[in-house]
Amino acid sequence: MVKLNKLVSRLAKEYGEPEPLPARGPFELVMWENACYLLPDDRRAMVFQMLREQVGMNATALAAATDEVLLPIAKLGGMRPEVRVFRWREIARITLSQFGGDLDQILSGSPAAAKKALKGFPNIGDPGAEKILMFCGMGTGLPLESNGLRVLVRVGYGCEQKDYGRMYRSVQEALAPEVPQSAEACARTFVLLREHGKEICKTNEPLCFRCPVLDLCGYPRKNMLETAKRKPARDLGLR
Ligand code: SF4
Repeated sequence: MVKLNKLVSRLAKEYGEPEPLPARGPFELVMWENACYLLPDDRRAMVFQMLREQVGMNATALAAATDEVLLPIAKLGGMRPEVRVFRWREIARITLSQFGGDLDQILSGSPAAAKKALKGFPNIGDPGAEKILMFCGMGTGLPLESNGLRVLVRVGYGCEQKDYGRMYRSVQEALAPEVPQSAEACARTFVLLREHGKEICKTNEPLCFRCPVLDLCGYPRKNMLETAKRKPARDLGLR
């Protein structure tokens, strides 16, 4: 079985140490999650920066901004910009009405209470809330998004399943003894696994031939055997 810390240090050599996110603190991280829909990170960063410069990255400024200001920015964030503007306003409204405009206060309570508070915001479920808390230094584990999950399944944690939730839980169980203690180390692991899943260990046709953890991963051999089982021998040039 591959060791998580060995995997992560190889990935750090390949991709470099992760840069800090442009978003800091729970309010900004909720906005970061809602900045775009299905677009690359550089577009998310651009939309986020425009909101910061043209609106102000706080609930009061966001609540006061007009459609004329918000909609053109939301259009850069992908499909259904009106929905995005609605969500930004909801984020501002909830922050002002339930947290007095200061969402940082959730970080002084328990992690469970903070997670519950975050799940009250648009687009934030369990993994999203755990991720935000991790980036705020208050993590309670290693949340995973789809890229990181795929990498870990392929290298041997948990088992691949059609049901995403069951697969997620199987990986978390297998990973539990090795999850880093600090939120900072978890965040570094999260970012590097995600990067690897996006750049090399892609959903279809992973680029195993240039993978920095090829020698630690059983997937290429397993995949070759499964392909061989599916294809007639003549297609594989065996007869
Ligand atoms: S060897 Fe292939 S499947 Fe395994 S981690 Fe690398 S890219 Fe992913």
